[in-house]
Amino acid sequence: MLKSRLAADPGWTVSFGEAQDGETALLRLKERSYDLIFLACRGSDELPLLARMRQLHAKSAVVAVCRQSDAAFAVEAMKAGALDCLVHDQLARADLSPILRRLAQTRALITQNLELRQVNQMKNEFIANVSHELRSPLAVILGYAHALQEGTLGTLNEEQRKAVGSIAHRSDELLSTLNRILRVRESVEGLQLAELKPTDLRGVWRAAVERGAQDLRRKNLRLECAYPPEPVWVLADLAALGEVCDNLLSNAAKFSPGGGLIRLTVGVAGGRAACALQDQGQGIPPELLSRVFEDFSTARVSGPTRQSSGLGLGLALCRQAVELHSGSIWLESAGPGRGCTAHITLPLARPDGKLARVEAPVLVEKRRILIVEDNPDLIDIIQLFISGVSANLELAAARSGFEALESIKNQMPHLIVMDIMMPGMTGLELLERLRRAPDAARIPVLVLTGYADAAAQARAAGAQDVLLKPFDRNAFVSRVLALLHGAQAGESRK
Ligand code: ADP
Repeated sequence: MLKSRLAADPGWTVSFGEAQDGETALLRLKERSYDLIFLACRGSDELPLLARMRQLHAKSAVVAVCRQSDAAFAVEAMKAGALDCLVHDQLARADLSPILRRLAQTRALITQNLELRQVNQMKNEFIANVSHELRSPLAVILGYAHALQEGTLGTLNEEQRKAVGSIAHRSDELLSTLNRILRVRESVEGLQLAELKPTDLRGVWRAAVERGAQDLRRKNLRLECAYPPEPVWVLADLAALGEVCDNLLSNAAKFSPGGGLIRLTVGVAGGRAACALQDQGQGIPPELLSRVFEDFSTARVSGPTRQSSGLGLGLALCRQAVELHSGSIWLESAGPGRGCTAHITLPLARPDGKLARVEAPVLVEKRRILIVEDNPDLIDIIQLFISGVSANLELAAARSGFEALESIKNQMPHLIVMDIMMPGMTGLELLERLRRAPDAARIPVLVLTGYADAAAQARAAGAQDVLLKPFDRNAFVSRVLALLHGAQAGESRK
């Protein structure tokens, strides 16, 4: 009946698929995408299924169809991502036009979005080309200016030396401006650029397994890998897809009990490349299965799966990278204590397939911490402390306040960890300067100091937290995670 009503709408060419149960529906969705899904619901038991469908295809609209009018259920369904909620017995009479109208609006937005992306890409290419064209002549100017300064082309009098010094200085400035424009394009504008080339998915996993071997050994975990005899070709950016495998493997190892078994299966299913990584760990409650893909999910996930030591960023980065490859990623778990399986499917490619360059906005990025500290030993210790927390934390070090300001100009960190007693510019002066800079003022700062008296001053100057030296790893890591999570909460409230 729905078929005939939808097919009768003149604005649409309709093709249908049907599934008798949730599992078949999910299989169908892995094979192809649907613009509109009608999901028959007996009650809120179907809501995790609804969330899974939205997770598989963010662009599909799901209409929940329940047996009788139930306002509380309708609210829950909308919260889980339903476009609308209809009552089964009223389907014959229900006005479907608002639903179809909203669907059309969403489609128009997606098309508009694609066009904007194209314009954006043209602009980016233009900037890249102009920068490149300027860079080559600049390299020649700089080369001659430096040769003249060094006296390679003869001795210069005082006036000539001053003139050449000025040329060299200004050219250097121009070069760093150009570099900054390019970096801004890639990082601040938030672009993820990937070069996709035909890649054997087995090789991507084999390399990740090799990288993760130490992690597995540490917990005495066994890993069984089932690779097909033939290559599984996909179009992939090796580094980006490799990081996805690293993240999933690291989660499987982290949440598995010591001595447990992890199974990796790579193959082809439903016309797509498919891989699954199954662990025997603590599992995830069904209602949290889609939320763990949210940025900083660890902070929101409570209960037995809560891992306060994690950053909660890995799966969000995984989803972003998999979507860049036109793939899907999802987790399955039979519930707490019953293990977890991470699935990825990707379009198959030909081994001689064409390279593809894709560009997508970066919605989730790794977290960057800038350490400002003049003592190199302390920088090493902090790096050691942080390296075990997450592969998704990046560190940069500045040896002085001046270096820190330069580094921030080039790339905004998500957190600054700083010493107070530093030669040249003290930490307090640096805090003052940061608070006056519109962009930098929002970055949380953790001050490390050996002077109890400096703590109050640092807080008054704008530091969010202060840690007295000496400190241990746990104290340091928990402060860092709390500040990063706090900053995220602030960002998402805006
Ligand atoms: P983190 O970097 O903290 O591991 P992720 O984004 O990778 O963050 O994971 C988010 C949350 O999802 C984890 O904190 C955990 O609660 C849950 N999770 C991820 N993978 C698994 C797994 N294999 N088993 C159980 N829980 C998991």
